[in-house]
Amino acid sequence: YIGREALPRKNSHGIELTDPIGVAPLKDAVANSAGKTWSGSPIIDGVAGQADQPVVNPATGETIGHTADTDAAQIDKAFTSAAENQRAWNRLGGDARAKILDKVADLYEAHLDELVAIICREAGRTLNDGISEVREAVDFCRYYANGARKHFSEPTELPGPTGESNELSLSGRGVFVCISPWNFPLAIFTGQVVAALAAGNGVLAKPAEQTACIAHRAVQLMHEAGVPQKILHLITGTGAAIGKPLLDDPRVAGVAFTGSTETAKHINMQLAAKDGPIVPFIAETGGQNVMIVDSTALPEQVVDDVIQSAFLSAGQRCSALRILCVQDVIADNLLNMLKGACDELSLGDPSKLDTDIGPVIDEKALGLLQKHRERMQQEAKPLFAFAEDKMPSTGTFFGPQVVEIEDFNVLKREVFGPFLHVVRFKAEELEDVIRRINATGYGLTFGLHSRIEGRAGAIFKRVDAGNCYVNRDMVGAVVGVNPFGGMGLSGTGPKAGGPHYLFRFANEKTKTINT
Ligand code: GLU
Repeated sequence: YIGREALPRKNSHGIELTDPIGVAPLKDAVANSAGKTWSGSPIIDGVAGQADQPVVNPATGETIGHTADTDAAQIDKAFTSAAENQRAWNRLGGDARAKILDKVADLYEAHLDELVAIICREAGRTLNDGISEVREAVDFCRYYANGARKHFSEPTELPGPTGESNELSLSGRGVFVCISPWNFPLAIFTGQVVAALAAGNGVLAKPAEQTACIAHRAVQLMHEAGVPQKILHLITGTGAAIGKPLLDDPRVAGVAFTGSTETAKHINMQLAAKDGPIVPFIAETGGQNVMIVDSTALPEQVVDDVIQSAFLSAGQRCSALRILCVQDVIADNLLNMLKGACDELSLGDPSKLDTDIGPVIDEKALGLLQKHRERMQQEAKPLFAFAEDKMPSTGTFFGPQVVEIEDFNVLKREVFGPFLHVVRFKAEELEDVIRRINATGYGLTFGLHSRIEGRAGAIFKRVDAGNCYVNRDMVGAVVGVNPFGGMGLSGTGPKAGGPHYLFRFANEKTKTINT
């Protein structure tokens, strides 16, 4: 899979959960982390600030650390420091920055157990998800480090008429603000920050307030690896409390954001209205992701892929499957198998190896899902509801649900959790299904299960979705292998973990010399 990349690079292996010896240290580390606390305070110029707002383990309700809303004066200080030092960081060049980012990857791998423990306690992610997440974060570091070497070390020579030399060079734009979500609290946080750094920018990184502790630890490791403390600052707090001083500052040279479509629109307006330069906005947002299953699909494989895509990670992936479109002739059989498989899922303590589904992130998320369930009781036909008596008694858990709906229009917004909506279609309605998918306005992931040769290619051309998966699950995009990101309401591109991502973080300069 090194493929067309210029430099050799291997994705991280992580740990195989089925290998009892390999997994033992991780199990111990996570078990020993019970009752431990971590800091989720801001870090400005390498100095950790005060923190007094509790960060809560969603599986237990226990406080596992503290965070704070960074005040406007501190944010101003971070901008000043990053802006003053950004040119020196940029002058270092792509090679030197890449060495430091490779070191971040090495440190992440060396601290895998600790990082998984924090992710599990703070975000309620299962061990399996935690391992994948560290692996993805490591891959982002090495992938963007390679991009820095390839594109940010030497200018590219361009052709010109006799007597003229031309070259194009890339450099950092200034200070980037990176705003990341709680659902991939290490991988997405790291991906955004490392890309901005690789391209030669200073960074103010703002993680979700629910997962400030893992971000705090990540920034400590980045500084330890050699990212200058004056170049990378951690700005903690809620969007409501710190969004204004963070985004209105004329020194903002660009924003990378992953989160909801509504917040993305809000940030985009704020950036358009602020003083200072016109800046790039890289947004990766939600999806109304559909999988089409036609009558030729292999039902066992479909069931497995639907479970993976809709319910694992508690459905809290923007790539997750929300609407399953099944051809009517196989629907009853397939849905029966699916119900049986759903019943086997285990919900509970995410630090236990045999847990499939952990909690949703907080009370607010749980409330939204419960409200959606109430609405679906009126507007949809229930197919499966996870048994109440198999639910943990504490924590913000929501059991998987499957309902059948008549039309996509029933879903106005993304439902961010383990909630699957099924639509039946007749063979002659396939075109209409595709039209309805595109009419949602979202365009993130799309799945197709079909053994009809040529169908995948034909549908791929017509469906507006950034990541199309055929005869497999539709989550877990791999860095450098499945570049990830959507279109329309799902985001602006360029794709994370793809060959064009770094360019959006850069200024381009053409030098023309009359020789
Ligand atoms: N990249 C992740 C995946 O492919 C999803 C990222 C997200 O949820 O924001 O599943």
